[in-house]
Amino acid sequence: MPAEPKNLKQIDADSILHPSTNANEFAKTGSRIIQSGKGIYLEDTDGNRLIDAVAGLWCVNVGYGRPEIANAMHKAATDLSYYHTFTGMSNVPQIELAERLLAIAPNNMSKVFFASGGSDGNDSLMKIVWYYHNLIGKPEKRKIISRWQSYHGTSIATASLTGLPSFHKDFNLPIEGVLHTESPDYFRHGKPGESELDFSKRRAAELEALILQHGPETVGAFIAEPVMGAGGVITPPEGYFAEIQKVTKKYDILFIADEVVCGYGRLGTWFGSEVYDIKPDMITTAKALTSGYFPFSASFITEQIWDVIKQGSAKYGSFAHGYTYAGHPIGAAVAMANLDIIENDGLIAQSADVGQYFHTQLNQRFANDPFVAQVRGQGMLAAVQLMQDKDSKTFFDPAIKIAPSVTVKCYQNGLIARPLPSVDSVAFSPPLVTSKAQVDDIVNIFEASVRDVMQQH
Ligand code: PLP
Repeated sequence: MPAEPKNLKQIDADSILHPSTNANEFAKTGSRIIQSGKGIYLEDTDGNRLIDAVAGLWCVNVGYGRPEIANAMHKAATDLSYYHTFTGMSNVPQIELAERLLAIAPNNMSKVFFASGGSDGNDSLMKIVWYYHNLIGKPEKRKIISRWQSYHGTSIATASLTGLPSFHKDFNLPIEGVLHTESPDYFRHGKPGESELDFSKRRAAELEALILQHGPETVGAFIAEPVMGAGGVITPPEGYFAEIQKVTKKYDILFIADEVVCGYGRLGTWFGSEVYDIKPDMITTAKALTSGYFPFSASFITEQIWDVIKQGSAKYGSFAHGYTYAGHPIGAAVAMANLDIIENDGLIAQSADVGQYFHTQLNQRFANDPFVAQVRGQGMLAAVQLMQDKDSKTFFDPAIKIAPSVTVKCYQNGLIARPLPSVDSVAFSPPLVTSKAQVDDIVNIFEASVRDVMQQH
């Protein structure tokens, strides 16, 4: 007999250290236990039916409960439940997946490295940056520049890349050799009267100054999300990546595009790099590669980097890096089934179309709202900026925790939205299967929840 929900909550509280959870607040509220999902809907053990307007953690692009993926998983587990891919061992699903991914990845990627998530994907690329520069005789070119407000993972190295101070302060991070340049958040950091393009140029000049301060011969790579996710759904201001890429090129600095959120349709294109004309040397993808049905990531490198790695084997022997679950046959089969759905259901075009509708609805609904200062994002990725008073640009007192208050209210009203407390914003990244009618439901519930909370402030 399954335990009663009440018992499950108690057992949960007694036994689990939850990720990214405030232990004291959790002790008061307890867990919410999600027990089933179909399409864009979830059900918890308290009997609530919820629209998941975040797609889990920005990953369930094809929606929950897809039989095509369940069947692919079953078949793969029956055919070959596991075998490793070290020392040149391989399996059919990972080979088929690699060929398919290289055909759609931007900027002519040449090889793919599989792992289990975004953190270990980015971690692997950091090591490849070091390995590459060692081999080309520039071992001092080790520093990696990331941006404040970015999110790149939580391993020791990738939490260092992450530009959110809460991920550093209690862990003595960042590690040596990880530097941060200023964020592309024009809304917060643009000067009065400064155009977006001038702001972008200023950011590029600041990046260049940082590189010169440390010495270009010590800087190996720059990493950026096309649209910052967890840091606030920050879209790049006009000209931003063009200006930044002038600098990275000038100093021979590799460009890593972290497409962990943007990849596989989120912005209405296959990859975010396409939207902003980013020409990366390396790319990390994860999340929507399997729509969250299996922990799996794919990181890409160009032919130029691959050539050097190949030469490295002659010099160093094996490329001594890899994970037990790299290229897992079930994960690869799940990714193939997931890509089939994205293609067969036309989800990239749907993401562009419904995404535009979503942004229009949010903009119209909140155009005259004193508490909503900005709606930002691209495609099926959006954030609503809350403010005490948008005319005088007054932020809420952080003690009020306005974004979490709104999302708690949303949950009570049947909607999961994601609070981004560091920027007083609420984020949305609904599954790409969301229809326009369902967008209306999301916007209606959100609007009612915002009004309800704002009445108290
Ligand atoms: N990169 C980005 C842009 C992310 O948003 C995330 C996770 O949210 C990661 C990397 C880390 O991925 P994971 O949690 O799978 O390690």
